[in-house]
Amino acid sequence: MEDLYINNFIRYCKVSSASDDDSATQPSTQRQFNLAKIMKAELEALNVEDVELDESCYVYGYINKQNTSKRVVLVAHMDVSPEAPSENVQPIVHEFAGKDLVLPHATILASKLKNIELGQKIITSDGSTLLGADDKAGLAIIMTLIQYLNDNVKLADLPSICICFTPDEEIGRGTAAINMEKLTSNIKDSYGLTIDGGRNYELAFETFNAYGFSVNITGYNVHPGSAYKQMCNALLYGTKLVSLIQQTFPTPELSRAAEPYILVNQLTGDVSNCLIKGIIRSFSDTEILDLNQQLSQLVDKFYQDEKVTANSDQFKVETEIKFQYANMRKFIPDSLVTYLNEKGKSYNVENEMIRGGTDGARLSEMGLPTPNVWSGQANIHSVKEYNVSKEAVDCVNFLVKVLLDK
Ligand SMILES: [Zn+2]
Repeated sequence: MEDLYINNFIRYCKVSSASDDDSATQPSTQRQFNLAKIMKAELEALNVEDVELDESCYVYGYINKQNTSKRVVLVAHMDVSPEAPSENVQPIVHEFAGKDLVLPHATILASKLKNIELGQKIITSDGSTLLGADDKAGLAIIMTLIQYLNDNVKLADLPSICICFTPDEEIGRGTAAINMEKLTSNIKDSYGLTIDGGRNYELAFETFNAYGFSVNITGYNVHPGSAYKQMCNALLYGTKLVSLIQQTFPTPELSRAAEPYILVNQLTGDVSNCLIKGIIRSFSDTEILDLNQQLSQLVDKFYQDEKVTANSDQFKVETEIKFQYANMRKFIPDSLVTYLNEKGKSYNVENEMIRGGTDGARLSEMGLPTPNVWSGQANIHSVKEYNVSKEAVDCVNFLVKVLLDK
């Protein structure tokens, strides 16, 4: 099974499919259709039912669709991150010898390759591009699983399964045009699994609660030659407010595990206008609301304090805080958490809290509880990205157990 997995995986890695945050189209890039067409053809070749590639670049397909008592939805994303080069990917399969992996254009230190036994296979790029394991490992796991089910399992023993491959996950739009009706066919007893987790047998039931914020500062510009007691420099107020936010709240670079943070990730503008943007993250429902409130109060106090000495009555500071996504844990029934942990016992699964969001978080909120399963991907969004194929194959075996409910 490992050879089949590796062949599938390498084939998908070679197809360039980066999404693009700056694009407003759906999908964000046309190249994602290249991979989507391959996935569609391969699903059809494996006799998957009702395979469809829609105009928004979602691929759907079904196994044992007529079983309407229970539905499991398997999700992986086809795009790769736009944050590193991803054209002309040259995958390399290594057998781990306990030494550094020396690639043509980079080196992955052996000391960073934890929990990998000698002889285990590790797949990398040539060090000049992404590998694309995030999330082509998920695609290859699902395709290997389907082949296994075809060869070894009676259809009647399976729940109905929906396969869904999505575009644009990396730019936060993976569920933007998803069709919930196609995922669940309105079957009440439905849940999903995103196959997009990292290494070490992680099963994730928790994501951050997420809000975004923006602060708009209006100043007043005049010619600097006659600016005395006239000019009101929005940019200077902006930098002052940013440092105040940084001093008051925990930042991502100083937080980990279950700790929250507020990140300022954009400061743009000029004398007349300045825009600050950022994100607020916490696992706790009450904590995130507190942080939102504290941030609003801080900005408001800043405005009131500065207004007194500002040179212009044009001076204004306005805040907007917007919901992004919710911690999926509250949408996932305890029985599903127990069931999956039980099935994963022999792999010593670890319950990971994801310090980010997943498509599963959005699906869970939309009514389809969707935890995230490991896929053996690591160093994602980096040219040192790699995939441990044994962990991917163990994921296939885990999914077989989950589906067969034995
Ligand atoms: Zn991913």
